[in-house]
Amino acid sequence: MNDLKQHLEKIQTQIRETALSCQRTPESITLLAVSKKQPIARIQACFAAGQLHFGESYLQEALPKINALQAPEFNALQWHFIGVIQSNKTRQIATHFDWVQSVDRLKIAHCLAQARSCQCTPLNICLQVNISGEEQKSGFTPDSVFSAALAVNKMPSLCLRGVMAIAEKTENQSRISEQFRQAQKIYQQLQAHFPQVDTLSLGMSQDYPLAIAAGSTMVRLGSILFS
Ligand SMILES: *Cc1c(COP(=O)(O)O)cnc(C)c1O
Repeated sequence: MNDLKQHLEKIQTQIRETALSCQRTPESITLLAVSKKQPIARIQACFAAGQLHFGESYLQEALPKINALQAPEFNALQWHFIGVIQSNKTRQIATHFDWVQSVDRLKIAHCLAQARSCQCTPLNICLQVNISGEEQKSGFTPDSVFSAALAVNKMPSLCLRGVMAIAEKTENQSRISEQFRQAQKIYQQLQAHFPQVDTLSLGMSQDYPLAIAAGSTMVRLGSILFS
């Protein structure tokens, strides 16, 4: 488990160095540890090493982990849902998670808002944008994000925090950068209208340096963190 702490520090150093090489403040980038397929003990060790944000993609896998880490000592731990959302799962997602980054249609936002309305803290929301244009990818089209943001911003149990996107799986770096820049542009448009918007969730293990160069404020790392 000591290895995990060292490895986490190494990844944090890489994020810092990438940020500095892009003339960015390292503190402006949050690491989301994508803990899908990781056992509870590993998440606990990662939290003990100072990691606060964890991302899960599958509700059934996440629930036992979330329920196991309910003691007051885990209060600072923030759970982010980053997977595909089926509408019949929205109630449990809204009540167990702190953030939902994969909101890809308004119907889902409405269901989450309704389910969250009984809780005192709003659910943090990122709108997922389909920046690669691939048909199999979920997300709002770039030209439909703004009107979705207006609607979400009116839901009192939700707090619109920003945008999440996944680049195409390709070796073509300039293509990835171009897609990230498109997400950045949308993020800046939202920021100009909604003062609470502060999150551009971009970058995974394979492409996070390009994401940081494009202004990402949250990198979602799984394989390089836990391998
Ligand atoms: C799994 C996943 C990640 C992490 O991917 P790695 O390549 O393992 O870093 C990030 N974001 C989303 C939406 C994911 O589903």
